[in-house]
Amino acid sequence: MRAWLLGARGARNAALLILWAVCVGAPAVLLAQSQSSNMRGLEQRFGLRASITASFASAFVQERLDPQRGQTVDRLSQAEILKAVAPLGRYLDNVVTLAGAGTYVVDSSGMVIASNGSGHASSHALRAIDHALASAAAHANEGSLSSRGHEESWFASRPIAGTPWRVVITAPSRLLFEAVRGPARWVPWTLFVGFGLLGLAALAMFDRLIASRQRLTTLNRELDRVARIDSLTEIHNRRHLEEALRAALGAARRHSSNLALLIVDIDHFKQFNDSHGHLAGDRALCHVAARLADSLRVEDVLGRWGGEEFIIVLPGADAERAAMVAERLRTHIASSSLELPGEGSSALTVTIGVSCWSGQDAEDLVNQADTALYAGKADGRNLVRLYRDDAAAVGEVQADDIARIGGNGRTSL
Ligand code: GH3
Ligand code: MG
Ligand code: MG
Repeated sequence: MRAWLLGARGARNAALLILWAVCVGAPAVLLAQSQSSNMRGLEQRFGLRASITASFASAFVQERLDPQRGQTVDRLSQAEILKAVAPLGRYLDNVVTLAGAGTYVVDSSGMVIASNGSGHASSHALRAIDHALASAAAHANEGSLSSRGHEESWFASRPIAGTPWRVVITAPSRLLFEAVRGPARWVPWTLFVGFGLLGLAALAMFDRLIASRQRLTTLNRELDRVARIDSLTEIHNRRHLEEALRAALGAARRHSSNLALLIVDIDHFKQFNDSHGHLAGDRALCHVAARLADSLRVEDVLGRWGGEEFIIVLPGADAERAAMVAERLRTHIASSSLELPGEGSSALTVTIGVSCWSGQDAEDLVNQADTALYAGKADGRNLVRLYRDDAAAVGEVQADDIARIGGNGRTSL
């Protein structure tokens, strides 16, 4: 039982853990996915911008070189090239709108031959791009680079058609990251916190549900127990006795085993009540119930049948054993004294009727014990009487049987 309880608690804790992991893990995965898809989106935007910029730059350069038809870029002097591409910066400035981004046209050696913008942007850009970045951009279309002295930069680079130049767009990763996170950055975190709180609430509800189910089970068990207990004597009541007797008869039938039933009735109880009062009568009932309970085995079933009558079911007991048990109970009660407050001690006796199972149903078994009981009452009380099928009369004393049982002459078989 204990192991089962521990197992159930373990399973419950495991279920709670899984629930929590789902509630918190799912938004975490969503968050990670959303961040990485944002970054992928950014790379694509960045790459697209580089392509567009490269097309613009390419068209611009073509147009500037047109007047010198027949010329190719590599035949131009450095001064002519610089002159041709000098206004390119302003064009680049117009097409690149990403805050903090620098746009350059670099030659195959990584040298910047044009950059975007006005004086400040231009000088900043010229300073910002270094050789490592230029050569990285010459070999890859996109990427990030952390070069000495500069924070990590993202770049996108595209060749300018018809020239040995490339257009390179760079921006500090920090700025890009800010751009990724924008106002939408709160969405995954809100989801994360929201799901976390929901998870906590679900856990709390689940926990309460389990706890209330356990409480309900405990209460039901307690209710069932109380419904089977006699409130005065705290031994089993008639309802439990009837069920236990049916179950014991079923088992006796299945295993072809013995079973005996005892009805114990307090002698002259009405008189006891009249002389000592009802409360003392209640005490007497509890006293007798406790004495009977003292002297039985765990497998025997004792209960209050009603009023001052008790029934005891003895599974496995034959006539001999049943009579011995009954006699022991009778003497135990007769020899015990009942203390009554203010009145000293008082004595009680009981008469016991015994019946043995031989195929009859529960009702007949009880009736037969009752018949034996009333024979005992008729014979003077404080006696044990066994119901016998073969002897038409109940309570015939047979000396042999008494000797065998070891009774004191008050038990008749
Ligand atoms: P007998 O020896 O023939 O059994 O006589 P008796 O007086 O014991 O039997 P009778 O059936 O005449 O009286 C039973 C009495 O038991 C009557 C009733 O007031 C009393 N009684 C039944 N239930 C209770 C109870 O719960 N508390 C008290 N104090 N008395 C009870
Ligand atoms: Mg009675
Ligand atoms: Mg009585």
